[in-house]
Amino acid sequence: MLDLNGKKALVTGIANNRSIAWGIAQQLHAAGAELGVTYLPDDRGRYKDKVEKLVAPLEPSLFLPCNVQDDEQIDALFAAIEEKWGKIDILIHCLAFAGKDELTGDFSNTSRQGYLQALDISSYSLVQLAAKAKPLFKDSGSIVTLTYLGGVRVIPNYNVMGIAKSALEMNVRYLAAELGEQNVRVNGISAGPIRTLASSAVGGILDMIHNVENTAPLRRTVTQTEVGNTAAFLSSDLSSGITGQVIYVDAGYEVMGMSAPAGSEA
Ligand code: NAD
Repeated sequence: MLDLNGKKALVTGIANNRSIAWGIAQQLHAAGAELGVTYLPDDRGRYKDKVEKLVAPLEPSLFLPCNVQDDEQIDALFAAIEEKWGKIDILIHCLAFAGKDELTGDFSNTSRQGYLQALDISSYSLVQLAAKAKPLFKDSGSIVTLTYLGGVRVIPNYNVMGIAKSALEMNVRYLAAELGEQNVRVNGISAGPIRTLASSAVGGILDMIHNVENTAPLRRTVTQTEVGNTAAFLSSDLSSGITGQVIYVDAGYEVMGMSAPAGSEA
């Protein structure tokens, strides 16, 4: 049985009710985990208020700011976890960012600043959070991050985010190799395209979704809940033999070599 009772889970990346991290938080909570939730602080406190209201029914015992580009915030976050929980069992890394200009047009136009920013926020942050969590994992642990097919194949407009996801997927393997002796597992979920704040910055996201609906074996894309269910599985003892993997939750799209001919039935 999928049982996360007694587990302390830190969930990053909730911006609103479309966020994949929101789907994950709900499923972890349903399985019995105690949640800590972070939000991206901004000058006007918009995210804080919105996220606080959204997650209230899940009764998180920690609710803290976390901009992964701010080392002091990360230090404060993990100090609070140590003080309140004394340990961590589950770390959900569900965040990414690239400037809108970098997510359309020719990849070769990527700016140095845009490249470094995308890699810093979307990839390095996993290494940084894992390093902070490492001493707090006690008997076992699970780290789950979110990636996309654009990290292994060329997807129009995904551009520098594809490079960031490629690096993120290697982070998963290196971290899995390092943390395995502590019985901490590290895995990625490669989700099919879902309309969210982050994905709406990618040029042609609706075309990407339509392409999946026409091509994927299940003839649809996936939901936040489906990704959340897989994250809960990867966070639980049911997946105790799985680490260093990227699991596709994409309605099967990844296996297809070409779209079904127009008018054909699945
Ligand atoms: P989202 O916009 O809901 O979530 C992105 C999150 O990143 C937001 O909560 C935002 O606050 C956070 N973030 C951005 N910059 C940050 C920073 N400097 N510090 C801390 N947090 C920061 O969008 P989403 O689609 O749910 O994205 C979540 C993850 O899922 C991302 O890694 C994304 O690449 C991945 N993903 C999304 C899709 C999709 O189609 N939506 C598909 C595959 C993978």
